[in-house]
Amino acid sequence: GTWVYTFGDGKAEGTGAMRNLLGGKGANLAEMSNLGLPVPPGFTLTTELCNWFYANGRRYPDDLAAEIDAALAQVAALTGRTFADAKAPLLVSVRSGARASMPGMMDTVLNLGLNDETVVALAQSSGDERFAWDSYRRFIQMYSDVVLGVEHHHFEDILEDFKERKGYVLDTDLEAADWRGLVSAYKAKVGEILSKPFPQDPREQLWGAIGAVFSSWMNARAITYRRLNSIPEAWGTAVTVQAMVFGNMGETSATGVAFTRNPSTGENALYGEFLVNAQGEDVVAGIRTPQNITEAARLAAGSDKPSMEKVMPAVFADFVRTTQRLETHYRDMQDIEFTVERGKLWMLQTRSGKRTAKAALKIAVEMAAVGVISRDEAVARIEPSSLDQLLHPTIDPKAKRDIFATGLPASPGAARGEIVFTSEEAEKLRSAGRKVVLVRVETSPEDITGMHAAEGVLTTRGGMTSHAAVVARGMGKPCVSGAGSIRVDYHAKTVTSNGVVLKQGDVITLDGSTGEVLRGSVPMLEPELSGDFATLMEWADGARRMKVRTNAETPLDARTARKYGAEGIGLCRTEHMFFDAERIISVREMILSDDEAGRRAALAKLLPMQRRDFAELFTIMSGLPVTIRLLDPPLHEFLPSTEAEMADVAKAMGTSVDKLKRRAAELHEFNPMLGFRGVRIAIAYPEIAEMQARAVFEGAVEAGRVTGKPVTAEIMVPLVMTLAELDLTKARIVAMAEAVAKETGVTVPYQVGTMIELPRAALLAGEIAKTAEFFSFGTNDLTQTTLGISRDDAASFLGPYTVKNILAADPFVTLDQEGVGQLVEMAAERGRATRPTLKLGICGEHGGDPASIAFCEKVGLDYVSCSPYRVPIARLAAAQAAL
Ligand code: ADP
Ligand code: MG
Ligand code: MG
Repeated sequence: GTWVYTFGDGKAEGTGAMRNLLGGKGANLAEMSNLGLPVPPGFTLTTELCNWFYANGRRYPDDLAAEIDAALAQVAALTGRTFADAKAPLLVSVRSGARASMPGMMDTVLNLGLNDETVVALAQSSGDERFAWDSYRRFIQMYSDVVLGVEHHHFEDILEDFKERKGYVLDTDLEAADWRGLVSAYKAKVGEILSKPFPQDPREQLWGAIGAVFSSWMNARAITYRRLNSIPEAWGTAVTVQAMVFGNMGETSATGVAFTRNPSTGENALYGEFLVNAQGEDVVAGIRTPQNITEAARLAAGSDKPSMEKVMPAVFADFVRTTQRLETHYRDMQDIEFTVERGKLWMLQTRSGKRTAKAALKIAVEMAAVGVISRDEAVARIEPSSLDQLLHPTIDPKAKRDIFATGLPASPGAARGEIVFTSEEAEKLRSAGRKVVLVRVETSPEDITGMHAAEGVLTTRGGMTSHAAVVARGMGKPCVSGAGSIRVDYHAKTVTSNGVVLKQGDVITLDGSTGEVLRGSVPMLEPELSGDFATLMEWADGARRMKVRTNAETPLDARTARKYGAEGIGLCRTEHMFFDAERIISVREMILSDDEAGRRAALAKLLPMQRRDFAELFTIMSGLPVTIRLLDPPLHEFLPSTEAEMADVAKAMGTSVDKLKRRAAELHEFNPMLGFRGVRIAIAYPEIAEMQARAVFEGAVEAGRVTGKPVTAEIMVPLVMTLAELDLTKARIVAMAEAVAKETGVTVPYQVGTMIELPRAALLAGEIAKTAEFFSFGTNDLTQTTLGISRDDAASFLGPYTVKNILAADPFVTLDQEGVGQLVEMAAERGRATRPTLKLGICGEHGGDPASIAFCEKVGLDYVSCSPYRVPIARLAAAQAAL
């Protein structure tokens, strides 16, 4: 059909490759059906229909009803049940499914087609009256919530009141007649709230549910999720309508979710949870604590609830075979939803499973090792930014552990912060620069923003596949779920466990790898970078063309970057070395001097310190290239700001506070970003550049003696706009190089290059390359100067720009390829036309952003340079860009 694709009985109109049209869920149901796996028959309404729906004022095309009728007839033929029939009614689920998985973002309606008549037929055909009425009350509750906007709690209140009156504790205490009574009460409640009865006509129910799924594409939750995950609105969602199978038909029925490998560790073992006599989301909702699927997992978890392997061995064996088949077919770890109806297995969903970075690495490396995928595929499968998770600290094993409670190790890594109970509070404290741990009974999609703001998440209910666990793993946030000993009191803002009470604001530490919740702030360890990580990075390095350098000026950063595989320093910001307590006085002396002689005197004091700095960096980088940028920021940044500081400096320098203030006033600028900075300082006070150049060459001589390796020094002149600026500065540098060579008898190989960070420099790159031996694109300033946006002032207006889709992304995070990118590309071309050996790199924040790195590969840069912690991310991103 045009809008409808059917599946079931070993065939399907769609395939797994059609996820753009059928959504991930619909495409994989079709694929599983084509594979001959037991999939309840059904049909998928396409994402194109969703777009049509929105383009036409939330209406449907005229030919849709006939297509749905035909598809329903086909399902009827396969199941022997007819939709809306009073004798043998077909019940269906109505499921949402976008191209990209959006877990829990949109709503599913189960048991649709039930009404006062069909419920009786269901009771008769199943021979289980309790089951039929239980299904009906679930339907009323879900449908009312999702389609009619009558919230859950209305029904939960009725149920709780009823149980209390009857002295029941568990839902399983209720009998058929009890549920029947509740159905009447539920319907009455809906009627009362909406002033019209609960819809009895299955067709009306179906259209209502379809409309609700399409409409959910535009609900606030979905919009937020799309924004956080860069999913275009234009993709739309598909809707799948599928014959119901029942996991709540007694003790031989069950429902569950499973991963073909452990999503936390990557271990190659079936991993999952299920519940006997339950339906749909019961497992993930955390209402009952689920059981393990395999006996091995049960033993490892120390659970006293029997595993699926134990209670239904035949179905279990069938299930294991099916999951293996799916993993082999898809060549990736699968996340599977299934239901067992009276001893028969039904597959309800499969998709590539979300996993932690650690698991992703293990799975990719193992699959490549056995040849299921190639090494390049393994490299391509790891999301570069996810490596961040591995670079997270873990709890120091030697640290004292004051255990407050223990839950499930739902998402690895350690996190610590103040306890907060709501998303609002989490966001508020986060923006005040504080670290928080979000504590909830369970989380729902409304908590996404709070989870983002928190360092980690703790829930008292729910398993390894609960919402909190799935979302936290996706975000790379440590999470402990199902910590059952904890009682949360949202009103009093306290958590209690084993008699210990903690309040909001108290600090706790989560160990997402063991499930422990510890009191206080516990010491942490830096991550281990061997094993699968090292293997995959080696493969990535083999695939990559661009070099990866780091932005570093301290020995610690330089060492960290080397450990993470940096191949040199792409940007050493010398000004950071000027703030050091022991030298800031000399720096200020230099700035405050009235004449060159005074400045030179102060610079002479700074020289040995700078020489030491550079010698140390060259030594650590041991023969790798090091790019040193001459002093860049406006001088006034070094002046004291408070009265007390002023007085201190004046005293130390034997000058007056008044003089200091006068000089500070002279140096004041209205727009320092475009002021007296960069090469302009070297032009006005060449002696500063001379001192720095001398320190570089003397430091290089020293380091060469220590390491025995020749140092390649690259001196970089910032904020150049004309060739003349560069020529003048270069002459000073060359003179210094010659002087030092003469004095020491050692000639240091060096290059002089420039940053391209002004549009004029990009335009005149061909000219500038006559002198410059390398270009480094300073894309932070180049973005500021091209867009005319001050990065430090952008926060107040850039937010709405991204929300309103005016800019695809924050241009200071991801390079504006359309605009700034043109300048980069043009400057690279013009520069190379003049000087074919011109070395090209990038050293803005963009050097560590995967999308921007892909662009750098495209325009043929030689290297990217980024902060030490992003070096592994850049290595992987550069490899993926080259594949
Ligand atoms: P989500 O995208 O939130 O996972 P699903 O559409 O997968 O939503 O539905 C949630 C759960 O509802 C499924 O995991 C499954 O347990 C249950 N479910 C959906 N359709 C059916 C069906 N036809 N028969 C039985 N259970 C179903
Ligand atoms: Mg759901
Ligand atoms: Mg699902």
